[in-house]
Amino acid sequence: MVKADGYGLGARGVVARLAAAGCRDFFLSSWAEATALGTLPDGARLSVLHGVRAEDMETALASSARPVIATPAQAMRWRPTGRPCDVMVDTGINRLGLSLSDLTAGALDGLCVDAIMSHLACADEPAHPLNARQLERFRALPPIGARRSLANSAGAFLGLAFGFDLVRPGLALYGGTPGAVSGVRPVASLEAQVIQVRDLERGETVGYGAAFRAKDAMRLAVLNIGYADGVPHALGRATAVTIGGRRRRVVGRVSMDQLCVDATGVDVTEGDWAAFAMEIPRGAARSWRSQYEVLTGLGARLDRRWT
Ligand SMILES: *Cc1c(COP(=O)(O)O)cnc(C)c1O
Repeated sequence: MVKADGYGLGARGVVARLAAAGCRDFFLSSWAEATALGTLPDGARLSVLHGVRAEDMETALASSARPVIATPAQAMRWRPTGRPCDVMVDTGINRLGLSLSDLTAGALDGLCVDAIMSHLACADEPAHPLNARQLERFRALPPIGARRSLANSAGAFLGLAFGFDLVRPGLALYGGTPGAVSGVRPVASLEAQVIQVRDLERGETVGYGAAFRAKDAMRLAVLNIGYADGVPHALGRATAVTIGGRRRRVVGRVSMDQLCVDATGVDVTEGDWAAFAMEIPRGAARSWRSQYEVLTGLGARLDRRWT
């Protein structure tokens, strides 16, 4: 799953690495994302989860990607092309997808279906009764399509019964930890550069609203990152930053493009780098966001470097 620019990490780089690791099926949300992704590695297939709207047809016909057909109207629109598609069936999430009665009414007749898929509503709660109910409904589908796919990241941890022919992990690939799972290691780190070091006297304040006041003389490091890059405005002091080998707190309000770190007693100069803790589950809990929001919130200005 490489939607939302590879969950914020950069879809092109992600696709290249996953393809090199053997992945052949990629999923995005929209045709705009498919266009932005550009050429696919050899042998890779790309599917567009939102299906195909009337205004997507021109782009879709010029693309090697395929829609994931999710409504009877989309099926009617795609049928005359004779091209392959995937299909999303709703087995209980009541979000995007064909209903079981659409299937029995023949919505997919005459379509060339590769993967038939459904999406779990509660996979991150292993004991939730809806998991078993959705599995049962998915198993009972008529034999449509060459392959079957049910599980997202959390679903892939529910057991082999949820595996079918294809799993569709997103979050866990990017270092997120679905539900009760443990042991997913971080894959990304976030760093910013010191663009100024300044000394404060006791009683001076820092940033907008003078929200922080120095209790003693102190040293500040100003970093070139802010809420427009995905560091939440509300986070402030809850963010830990490692600078000059020491773990330090953010002081004052996070600005759009800058924030300040307490660098008292730290050996730091302009041009040094500071690292943010990227343990995604903890970062999410601290900032009252989901792990998905932490990742997809990483701003477009950040340079994506692969090591
Ligand atoms: C986003 C998405 C996934 C991946 O979900 P994760 O929880 O990130 O693993 C899988 N399938 C569909 C249909 C999705 O929209």
